[in-house]
Amino acid sequence: MDDARTDARRRFDLLPSVDVLLRSAPFQTLVSENGATAVRDAARDVLTDARARIAGGALAEPLSDPQALARAVETRIAERLAPAVRSVFNLTGTVIHTNLGRAPLAAEAIREMAAAAAEPSDLEYDLETGRRGDRDARVEAQVCRLTGAEAATLVNNNAAAVLLVLNTLAQDREVIVSRGELVEIGGAFRIPDVMARAGARLREVGTTNRTHPRDYAGAIGDQTALLMKVHASNYAVTGFTAAVSEADVARIAHEAGLPAVCDLGSGTLVDLERYGLPHEPTPGESLAAGMDLVTFSGDKLLGGPQAGIVAGRADLVDRIRRNPMKRALRLDKIILAGLSATLRLYERPEFLAEKLPVLRMLTVPEAEIAGRAERLAGPVRTAVAGAAEVDIVACRSQIGSGALPVDLLPSRALALTPHGGRKAGGKVEALARAFRRLPRPVAGRIAGGALLFDLRCLEDEAAFVAQLGALDLSDGAP
Ligand SMILES: *Cc1c(COP(=O)(O)O)cnc(C)c1O
Repeated sequence: MDDARTDARRRFDLLPSVDVLLRSAPFQTLVSENGATAVRDAARDVLTDARARIAGGALAEPLSDPQALARAVETRIAERLAPAVRSVFNLTGTVIHTNLGRAPLAAEAIREMAAAAAEPSDLEYDLETGRRGDRDARVEAQVCRLTGAEAATLVNNNAAAVLLVLNTLAQDREVIVSRGELVEIGGAFRIPDVMARAGARLREVGTTNRTHPRDYAGAIGDQTALLMKVHASNYAVTGFTAAVSEADVARIAHEAGLPAVCDLGSGTLVDLERYGLPHEPTPGESLAAGMDLVTFSGDKLLGGPQAGIVAGRADLVDRIRRNPMKRALRLDKIILAGLSATLRLYERPEFLAEKLPVLRMLTVPEAEIAGRAERLAGPVRTAVAGAAEVDIVACRSQIGSGALPVDLLPSRALALTPHGGRKAGGKVEALARAFRRLPRPVAGRIAGGALLFDLRCLEDEAAFVAQLGALDLSDGAP
């Protein structure tokens, strides 16, 4: 026992101290590149790990070589200094993928966001009078023009928009919602929970599959603050169903002197049918149907940065703006710049499908995607040679983020099937991992024993091909 301990002590002593390491040649290079602080911190970490491994029985010599330690420290520094958000290729086939950052932004939006980040701006400054201005005013005017709303207000995301509307208009009172619309969307947004946090009481009416006008009318009492509709975001109720239209809910609310509110979730500012896509409700339609307020996201179908938009009746929007919570949920200047630039694209709709990436990706002709598949099959085949077959297959892409959950767009994918056939389940996982470990990770989806790369969203083919040489299939791959 004592012998073993002395032995471990002796092996520990072979490890250099941090100060000695920092004076060695390989570390001097690291220090000149990263500064002494980061190198010292990383070196401490690496030495602590080495000691733990020696205590676990590892030999000290391989762990004490300054060159090897310098490489380990360099890797550690790179890990620590890696950006929190990395660019990936979204080849999952879901265009607006919440886990992959939703909408990629238009070039104009990115330019204006960079300018807003880099330079002082007239964010809350009236250039005519030299006095204080309102940060939201110009974007609100854009929203009004694009939706036909009397007024609008802007917050951090659509969840915040719903929270703020309910807290302002329904605190300590009841909100009537159909049981068929009590949705949970990804990331823990659940209507009943948001309602509770807003201080409102949920009054459920109808059943999961059927709700009738009389259900709403019968639930109205002196505690009722408003009637609410929630767009069935990421699921569809089919079969024996009945829902009450926005127009009917609005009429029932107004007969009782109450407002009607609609959480559209995605909401798009253009008629998607014009682009050959399935219909998705627009805020303008909801307001025209009689809804007093609508809420929707900035970074779903709208294709802008993360934001929540409340639009509708001026008197209600005014009360919402004056809620102190609004200040806590307000938009950042960079987001305002990006949202404004994105909305400006809608004010010139002739160029929208070309300039707004979300719409461009949703409307790219199938023949164009097929061309990408033809061009990329060869390079991908070379990259995975000996490990997997590569075929071009027909597939269907999804819009994502809750919009049009059951509508799928015809597309093309490269299907990478590991040699060894369909039972090679672990192999396809390893193949997917190898692509996720590329300098710009590639995210696909696994289906039927193959790794599918849906090419609908791959606009930069050259960048995709350029890094294929770095694919490393040695780690548990086929
Ligand atoms: C997406 C969605 C939300 C939440 O919107 P965020 O912008 O993600 O906060 C709320 N309600 C519905 C119906 C949605 O689809």
